[in-house]
Amino acid sequence: MANKVEQLKKEKDGLDLFPDILRYSKLGYESIPSDDLARMRWFGIYEQKPRNGHFMMRVKIPGGAINSNQWRTLGEISRDFGGGIADITTRQNVQFHWITIEVIPEIIHRLNSVGITTLGACGDIPRNIAGCPVAGIDPDELYDCTKIIEEVNHFFVGNKDFSDLPRKFKITIAGCRHQCHQPEINDIGISAVRKPNGDIGFEVRVGGGLSTQPRFSRKLDVCLKPDQIKDACRVIAEIFRDYGYRDRRNHARLKFLVDDWGSERFLDKMIEKLSWKPDPAVDSNSPKRIYADHIGVHTQKQHGLHWIGVAILTGRMTSEQILKTAAIAEKYCDGSLRTTNQQNLLLTNITEDDLTDVQTELEAVGLNWDVSKFRRSALSCTGTEFCNLAITETKLRLKEIIGYLEDKLDWDEDIRINLNGCPNACGQHHIGDIGLQGALTIVNGTKTEAYDICLGGRLGSNAKFTRPIRRKIPADNVKYALENLLLTYQHERTENDTFSDFVDRHTDDELGQFLGDNIGVVLAEES
Ligand code: SF4
Repeated sequence: MANKVEQLKKEKDGLDLFPDILRYSKLGYESIPSDDLARMRWFGIYEQKPRNGHFMMRVKIPGGAINSNQWRTLGEISRDFGGGIADITTRQNVQFHWITIEVIPEIIHRLNSVGITTLGACGDIPRNIAGCPVAGIDPDELYDCTKIIEEVNHFFVGNKDFSDLPRKFKITIAGCRHQCHQPEINDIGISAVRKPNGDIGFEVRVGGGLSTQPRFSRKLDVCLKPDQIKDACRVIAEIFRDYGYRDRRNHARLKFLVDDWGSERFLDKMIEKLSWKPDPAVDSNSPKRIYADHIGVHTQKQHGLHWIGVAILTGRMTSEQILKTAAIAEKYCDGSLRTTNQQNLLLTNITEDDLTDVQTELEAVGLNWDVSKFRRSALSCTGTEFCNLAITETKLRLKEIIGYLEDKLDWDEDIRINLNGCPNACGQHHIGDIGLQGALTIVNGTKTEAYDICLGGRLGSNAKFTRPIRRKIPADNVKYALENLLLTYQHERTENDTFSDFVDRHTDDELGQFLGDNIGVVLAEES
């Protein structure tokens, strides 16, 4: 017996909903049947919390590359309809909140008029194609995948052959030497590698994903040419569509099919469906530990040009900041901006002479590029502010924790702090050096927000998911626990030691002790 979402997808394709959205925009929120509320996700629209007529609306930014005209349009939508805020997400999208059904047609019209879309930003469909945010400007990159991302995006957007997949489907493609595009946690992760003859090929991973049952993707024995990538993505999506599991929503992602088939059988099926045979994989090693936040001032491959990476802690921007950065990009950056999967923003193509002026203008709207190691790559999901599944508030909590650690510690090492409002892992707590998962506990008889503290996650050749060390630490105490832990590390740190090494060499019990005994974990009763 198929689940309810499978039934409603068969009754009507989510991509066909636009005439209904137009009708509901005239009739009002109360007129929308629950099945069509679910189908609105195919237009990037989710009900926000509480379910009282306001929506989240997600805009896709393929590869994170956006021009100033498009970025200004996002700022205007945020100002006019979105409560003056918008959030950069971990897939390089932008999300609006406080959207009502009455204004959705106007928003879609404004977005389409500048060539961007919400189509396929949510729902059981290929999502935003992610990539390296410095594609085409990074002096170290192996290959500029900008055109490939455009081609793959063009193929999938609005393509009804792929609008009824078993579940969401995430693709990332990059020629980045650091593999900052996170191929390990996508359904398809495509990364450039250098072949023994010096040419560039592309390795392919399938079946990665986080959520409550995280999996790292598996490498297939193939090495693609650039013009084979779209076709490979197509057949992998077809395999998922035709063989993926549809009975249970929590067992429907591609990763479960890959678990059962293994990479060899999966590749056999790919080759059966392709009209060409891919070359076998070449020996390649992922970077040992992947860390690339792109924050600060960097020299581009183009002579005399720079990008500035601005840290947007939690991804939350005001409409004033979006409009201002659009104006800066137009004036100094050849109209080019990029969003990152760390929820940050880059302004590119800045001449040496203009750097100081750009920095002055950024500071005037509270944006900074010279920030602490804690702040550069910390990220959080949406949390109780807007998410119906959330258990805890997230964005203010992350700001509190980062601000506290900045005050208390002199810290010079790259570190990722990822915070989630529930086990669903939109804030990627499984792959942070420190992962915080929202929970509830009881303190003095009162239900209280709390966090599980998990440690040791990372991507790269030594990829690991975090280990849960302490459960249900009252949220107000998390910052003290992390301070205790990080001070212990600094105290025992030797030359060339890293925080990851420290976590790896200690047992869960030891790490729990380092977090401290006085942080409220002894509770009368737990929820
Ligand atoms: Fe919502 Fe949970 Fe996802 Fe956070 S992790 S956005 S709380 S579903």
